Amino acid sequence: MSRRVVIIGNGPAGHRLAELLCARAPGTDVTILGAESEPAYNRVLLASVLAGRLAAEATYLARHPEGSVRVLTGVRVESIDRRRQEVRTGEGVVLPYDDLVLATGAACFLPPVQGLTEEDGRPAKGVVALRTLADCRLVEDRLPVRGSVAVLGGGVLGLEVARALSERGYDVDVVHGGPHAMDRQLGPAAGDLLATALGGLSVRVLAGRMATAWTGDRLTLRDGSSVAAGLLIVCAGVVPETSLARDAGLRVERGVVVDEYLRTGDPRIHALGDCAEVHGEVSGLIAPAWEQADVLAGVLTGEPRPYTGTRTITRLKARGVDLAVIGAGESEVAGAETVVLTDPARGQYARLSVLDTRVVGAVLLGLPDSVAAVSQLYDSEEAAPNDRLSLLMGRAVAGPAQDPGSLPGQTVICRCSNVTKNDLATAWLRGAREESELAEATRATTGCGGCRSPVKEICRWLRAKHEQPDADAARSGDEQDPPVDHASPASSRRGDHRDPVPELLAP
Ligand SMILES: Cc1cc2nc3c(=O)[nH]c(=O)nc-3n(C[C@H](O)[C@H](O)[C@H](O)COP(=O)(O)OP(=O)(O)OC[C@H]3O[C@@H](n4cnc5c(N)ncnc54)[C@H](O)[C@@H]3O)c2cc1C
Repeated sequence: MSRRVVIIGNGPAGHRLAELLCARAPGTDVTILGAESEPAYNRVLLASVLAGRLAAEATYLARHPEGSVRVLTGVRVESIDRRRQEVRTGEGVVLPYDDLVLATGAACFLPPVQGLTEEDGRPAKGVVALRTLADCRLVEDRLPVRGSVAVLGGGVLGLEVARALSERGYDVDVVHGGPHAMDRQLGPAAGDLLATALGGLSVRVLAGRMATAWTGDRLTLRDGSSVAAGLLIVCAGVVPETSLARDAGLRVERGVVVDEYLRTGDPRIHALGDCAEVHGEVSGLIAPAWEQADVLAGVLTGEPRPYTGTRTITRLKARGVDLAVIGAGESEVAGAETVVLTDPARGQYARLSVLDTRVVGAVLLGLPDSVAAVSQLYDSEEAAPNDRLSLLMGRAVAGPAQDPGSLPGQTVICRCSNVTKNDLATAWLRGAREESELAEATRATTGCGGCRSPVKEICRWLRAKHEQPDADAARSGDEQDPPVDHASPASSRRGDHRDPVPELLAP
């Protein structure tokens, strides 16, 4: 009998893990149980759905190849019986497992504001807590015909949602208890400049203001003032979904506690993504979820490597504002040299931290030209140029790694949708010859948009390679190119695993 892997949660982490297990160990009996009724989708793209720039279906992740994974949607797991190695669903269905994976993600945190919730804990009338595609539909149904909307929470998600709605003509008030916008990532100078930039786009950030009560059409603040709103959207943080693990007697702190191989205290049960606490941290970001899926696929297929953390770059997906938080961002890094530039009149701010010539953190606001170069230096861990100011002004060239031809095939170009250079090459070879077609085929560029420039460069490079295949073949001698990575999202999305011109694909 083949090994039975049951994954609870059909979010990006669970979906990606199933995809990798099927690619690396075909024949594994994989079942995913997902409480949501939709196929798996990429939550990162929801702000684009709210802005009306993306259809809900465009957020769907690649379908698993026919017959490879059993996906049960609209099914909530109610309990885990560790002794019998079984899970039980709300409908009373019992599923046995050899390996169980918790990929249950997180739920919205509803802050203690009077009137915000009904007695059963659900959001009250006129309130939507935003986490799912279904929540996006609720927002759509409940948006007032005209007037203003309020958002509770001025972190990354709250600001993205606010800007998405201001794009559609609403005036949006963001009520934020923290001292300034995005205070978890930014210091006061950058936070205030960000609020000013958003202010010019019909998003008013009310920072340092605690909400105390919601009355159905008005949010009262602790200082006695109030904000009128036809709809209140709550984006005040998330709480990892740990109840199943806790009830099953597994160790839970902020998340389900796992070791660097993503194992809980029960060797048959693993956890990853937003529900997991690794190295004492819960991430709440998509890039660690993708990477942990890769690590866990290795663990479950007999090629274990430890999870050592993820290098993250967060870009605010707010049209008209360019903000990137790279690595440590504004956090102090012991021993690092720091350069800070600020030009309030032009809404520009840069802070760069360099340790032993390597970029370890940066915040770049209103400096789109420098984002690509600094991100690339951070990713590649190449030495930063000595002229830090030029780098921050976007004038320094980051070096040879900018040539798409020299990038390894598995380089992730689009972090929002986990699209590699090879995924783009595969899509191109299958007929997606323009940037817009590459975007449609792979979803690259449809999230924060930060990868637009590298996608453009890769498209140009692919065209040139395709037009001169002989010259390239002669240059590369008789080197053999590797096969397509079947597990990559774009290649599996089409279900066709044969690549017609493999020389465009790199290791
Ligand atoms: C609007 C929005 C925008 C975001 N933007 C970004 C961004 O720009 N960059 C970034 O890095 N991150 C972003 N995030 C966070 C990112 O989406 C998450 O880090 C990511 O979704 C985590 O994936 P996951 O699979 O671990 O969890 P989830 O996506 O939460 O999926 C978990 C799934 O498990 C299901 N589930 C839970 N319990 C059960 C059960 N008992 N039985 C069955 N199913 C269950 C849930 O219904 C859910 O479908 C955003 C999140 C939101 C909501």
